[in-house]
Amino acid sequence: MKAALLQHIRRLADDDLPAYVYDVHGLRAHARAVRAALPRRVRFLYAAKANSDPRLLRALAAHVDGFEVASGGELRHVRGLFPDVPISFGGPGKTVAELSQALDAGVERLHVESEQELRGLTTVLGDRTADVLLRVNVPVALPAVALAMGGGPSPFGLDPSRLDRCLQIIAADHRVRLRGLHVHLASGLDARAHLALVDQVMGWADRWAWQRGIDLAEVNIGGGMGVDYADPRNVFDWQVFGIGLRRTLERHPALTLRIEPGRAVTAYCGWYVTRILDVKSSRGTAFAVLRGGTHHLRTPAAKQHDQPFEVIPDDSWHQNWPRPEVRGEPVTLVGQLCTPKDVLARGATVGRLRVGDRIAFAMAGAYAWNISHHDFLMHPRPTFHHVDDADADVGPPAAETHVVAGRTA
Ligand SMILES: *Cc1c(COP(=O)(O)O)cnc(C)c1O
Repeated sequence: MKAALLQHIRRLADDDLPAYVYDVHGLRAHARAVRAALPRRVRFLYAAKANSDPRLLRALAAHVDGFEVASGGELRHVRGLFPDVPISFGGPGKTVAELSQALDAGVERLHVESEQELRGLTTVLGDRTADVLLRVNVPVALPAVALAMGGGPSPFGLDPSRLDRCLQIIAADHRVRLRGLHVHLASGLDARAHLALVDQVMGWADRWAWQRGIDLAEVNIGGGMGVDYADPRNVFDWQVFGIGLRRTLERHPALTLRIEPGRAVTAYCGWYVTRILDVKSSRGTAFAVLRGGTHHLRTPAAKQHDQPFEVIPDDSWHQNWPRPEVRGEPVTLVGQLCTPKDVLARGATVGRLRVGDRIAFAMAGAYAWNISHHDFLMHPRPTFHHVDDADADVGPPAAETHVVAGRTA
């Protein structure tokens, strides 16, 4: 962890915990680096559903080409913050009210998920126009990935066999303008695997467009750029990805590619910080019970992984009994919920961990607080802190911070 961030975490009062601490400056630098790695003919949208915290969206706004929203609520939120920013509206199961709202909000692109949705759109257009991408479940072979949205039977997007019907509907309605295709097939791929998928998709899309005499102006290749929770240092290689996309664009001189990553943009900027309430041993297994839990940070429960964390020792101990601790043995970090599923990290090996020490869970900036079931058990909510310190990304981590990433065996 960066020194300034650690300093901020140390200064938090116990009453502030649990807390979400966001490194806004780091997020800005990351987004700038992603943008710089991409060719100009790639439009970089941020998928707001990963984390729609207004201060994070404001930090991102200067470095992205727009936002992708997946509901009327997200659309209202993003448009409320940025009156003019380009917005793409995607996601399955849009209501006609949401489609109408999208037209009112002047969205740049609508990602059409089905023939039904396209017909619904034509009923609310009136004298307006809509620029659409048809989302297709392209028949490709997907590598083993964390999450597959396509490649087999899927509720997302159009089956290729339905595309011609959609083309007929569009041809009969001059208010609908087909800009191209949208393909969000998988999540959790590294840069090379993602590029291989883009190659497959483009091969299919080129054939499809050529057979129908369509000039493919745009392909949105979705999000899903991998985030490795088991190895936080293994980050998606945006340089390699940018070089690969440049090659794709060289073969397609008139094409614009669009991408809409969420997780790989914001995952690293968020920390969930809490402290240890209890340490105990049960039938030979050590447990640390933390303030808070998966009702604040659902990510490890949702993805069935161990959330990486750092121990921030706190040497103040004012009780007259021995301080419970675990030293040099695997420990399972759990929260305050009355369910065995409330596990944040299982069997992690730590140097030492004591009641009262603080724990900072890393990679809690995406699909974390906003996907969590806050009201279960009615515990208090975390506090939120946005550190926007230019110094936050310089200086070595404090020597006493143990980096304990995930499971050991
Ligand atoms: C969720 C989603 C994204 C973002 O996915 P990440 O894995 O967060 O990058 C992009 N596009 C669509 C259509 C999505 O549903």
